[in-house]
Amino acid sequence: MGYAEVSVNSPVAQRRTFSYAIPSGLNINVGQVVWVPFGDKLLQGVVLELSEYPAVEETREVVGVIESTPVLSPAQVSLARWISEYYLSSLFDAVALMLPPGFRRKVVTFISRPATPPQYDTAALNQEQRQALYLIGKQDKVSLRELEMVLGRKKAQAVVSQLVARGLVARSYELEKVKVKPKRVRYLRLKVGAGEAQREAARLQEQGRASRQASLLEFLSQAAQPVSLSAARQTVGGSAPVVNALVSKGLVEIQEVEVRREPISYEGITPSRPLKLTSAQKSAFESIRSSLLQMDKGHPSPAVFLLHGVTGSGKTEVYLQALAEVVKRGKRGIVLVPEIALTPQTIERFAARFPHKVAVLHSRLSLGEQFDEWQRIRNGEFAVVIGSRSAIFAPQPDLGLIVIDEEHEWTYKQSDQSPRYHARGVAMKLAELSGAVVILGSATPDVETFYHAQRGDYHLLQLPERVTPREGSPLPQVEIIDLREELKAGNRSLFSRALSQAAARALANREQVILFLNRRGAAAFVQCRRCGLVLRCRRCEVALNYHADEGVLACHQCNYRMSVPQVCPRCLSRRLKFLGIGTQKLEVEAGAAFPQARLLRWDSDVTRRGKHPHEEILNRFRSHGADILIGTQMVAKGLDLPLVTLVGIVSADVSLNLPDFRAGERTFQLLSQVAGRAGRGTLGGQVVIQTYSPEHYAIQSAARHDYAGFYKQEITYRRQLHNPPFSRLVCLVYSHTNDALCQREAERMKRLLVAEIDSRGIADISLIGPAPAFMHRLRGRFRWQLILRGAEPSAFISQIPMPPGWTVDVDLVGL
Ligand code: ADP
Ligand code: ZN
Ligand code: ZN
Repeated sequence: MGYAEVSVNSPVAQRRTFSYAIPSGLNINVGQVVWVPFGDKLLQGVVLELSEYPAVEETREVVGVIESTPVLSPAQVSLARWISEYYLSSLFDAVALMLPPGFRRKVVTFISRPATPPQYDTAALNQEQRQALYLIGKQDKVSLRELEMVLGRKKAQAVVSQLVARGLVARSYELEKVKVKPKRVRYLRLKVGAGEAQREAARLQEQGRASRQASLLEFLSQAAQPVSLSAARQTVGGSAPVVNALVSKGLVEIQEVEVRREPISYEGITPSRPLKLTSAQKSAFESIRSSLLQMDKGHPSPAVFLLHGVTGSGKTEVYLQALAEVVKRGKRGIVLVPEIALTPQTIERFAARFPHKVAVLHSRLSLGEQFDEWQRIRNGEFAVVIGSRSAIFAPQPDLGLIVIDEEHEWTYKQSDQSPRYHARGVAMKLAELSGAVVILGSATPDVETFYHAQRGDYHLLQLPERVTPREGSPLPQVEIIDLREELKAGNRSLFSRALSQAAARALANREQVILFLNRRGAAAFVQCRRCGLVLRCRRCEVALNYHADEGVLACHQCNYRMSVPQVCPRCLSRRLKFLGIGTQKLEVEAGAAFPQARLLRWDSDVTRRGKHPHEEILNRFRSHGADILIGTQMVAKGLDLPLVTLVGIVSADVSLNLPDFRAGERTFQLLSQVAGRAGRGTLGGQVVIQTYSPEHYAIQSAARHDYAGFYKQEITYRRQLHNPPFSRLVCLVYSHTNDALCQREAERMKRLLVAEIDSRGIADISLIGPAPAFMHRLRGRFRWQLILRGAEPSAFISQIPMPPGWTVDVDLVGL
């Protein structure tokens, strides 16, 4: 008898598997989904390992298989285990990332009478038992839910258990109804020849009866292609009785045909051919190609490339040609993009280069579309799968290449639910397990990624210049405006004089303008409007956050608190201000400043509406349906907007003062990206950055398009403050509706951890906090956090059992 190690869909299973015996006659493979008994329930589980001996003495048996073919590949099984260990998530949560869409279903319990029920004495049964037996006897089987509705939940379960014990009824289990099915379309087909159909139609017409049946027959006899039922109804206005009449006369039949839901429309996409590479592209491509060759020869360690190049430097063309190389060798690729709704142009370029060989996976597809794509991917129908972070779990066979475009983007980290994985980390592990090459692409690489590239852990490939059709189209010119000077000159509006003038000029030339505002954390920090000083935590260096409810400033890392000072501690000015502007206010002011201009606002308030809000807004702006686009982070993404000649960054200070050690990096990335929006066309471009901290290195280096300069300064600070990549962080968050209870629980956890650290003599882990989380209140719950910093904090925390209410985020990004 063999045994299976099964990851079980139960919260108590945590990070472990359970041993089950495989009954004879049941053929079970690794990666297969099975039914297993667990406590008094029957649960879904995934087989992660087969063994000759069980891990425990007593085992129960696997009840049955849910699908005969394995749903996880061996590499995915290892990947799931790694995710659970590394990100400290439950094993089944990690496994579930790779299950087909809609697979996680509930079990329905049914109760039925056995074929030959034993004799029993009715008088020995109580009234409820008799009632249940009566209900069960009326049908073949009754779901437990139905009984619960009649008898009440507790009672129904008790009665069923009593009856099962006497052998009068038996339980059986089924999966809840499938939520997604392949989409079927009903077609109408003539059962007689076209000639006969027309004669019949003419006959009906003559009789002056059933004219709608006649016209439907007429229509079907003339159609060149199969006609769907809905199309037929629309065209001839035939209702169900009309169709049914023809069916019963034996003239017409209805056929169901399975159709594919197609997320990419290839209409209007012309196939493209590889471009002749520039010399920089060529040398990058050759390095990747030689690595692919090594892979083919079974080279043991996979290669990771960092392709560093400004927007428009031709990175995407390198991805496309690397992928073609992979496909030539009979392998396939996965391409991750940060936010798929914002990258229709990228998808089109892949679709044009690999017509009908591109699958798209993302959460905005309907469940049915996701299901169809998943099945076809598993069948090996696609050269490439493109998607947002979860596309890394696509069942792409023969994986040869993984591309992560804009690898620095924070959307690659899943922060809001378990497993809190980073797609980049997962991609590298998957590449290692499946022998694939990884390309990380970015104009502003993550500081940690660049650090690894510098150390030689990754191969660094650089594309230093834009590929432009014309000679010498330069990067946009960037001007930094010191808002303190504006104030001195008596300008209190949101727009500096330089920005107003530049905007007026662009609008007069019928060009377009983008006004960018980072909204996250707005109104939370305090800044002196005279000298630009921001009040910071003395211990952590991050900006203090203003809590209006308590009237204090607090550090979101260590909970240092102070009251708001009356005057600026540096210049003694009284102009300490809570800074913060919303896009709505910006829209109002822009309307007043440029009354002739047509405004368009693009932020999360707007994009919650409609099915394709991004596309609609973008298309409207691209087709010059507006002159000024007011937007948040979204406008920073890879969009080609040739008429935009001016980008105004209304306040660079918002992101600079996030209570997070990565605030400088974030600001540099955002400014660089937004600046890259200007001057994509032949008109050239200009960028204006407004700030109270014009001397800040992140702003200075973004204005010079100087990644190396930024990196040098940033990595120095990281080393000094012992932040990643020189340490790793684990964030523990406790949430509850009661704030005081959160704080007590967080403090209790801290004492517990300190005691553990002391008793084990661990020297290199420090505890930061507890403190209210940056998002202190989220969906009605308060949140307190505790950060562990050290070389291997997760190894330590993995040994501490986490009480309910706590979440663990390994390698957190953003507070
Ligand atoms: P990135 O991905 O770095 O932003 P792209 O690959 O999108 O850069 O290239 C920017 C523009 O230059 C695109 O319009 C692309 O078609 C064009 N391009 C890229 N490589 C070449 C090349 N070798 N020859 C001509 N045009 C190119
Ligand atoms: Zn001051
Ligand atoms: Zn602090």
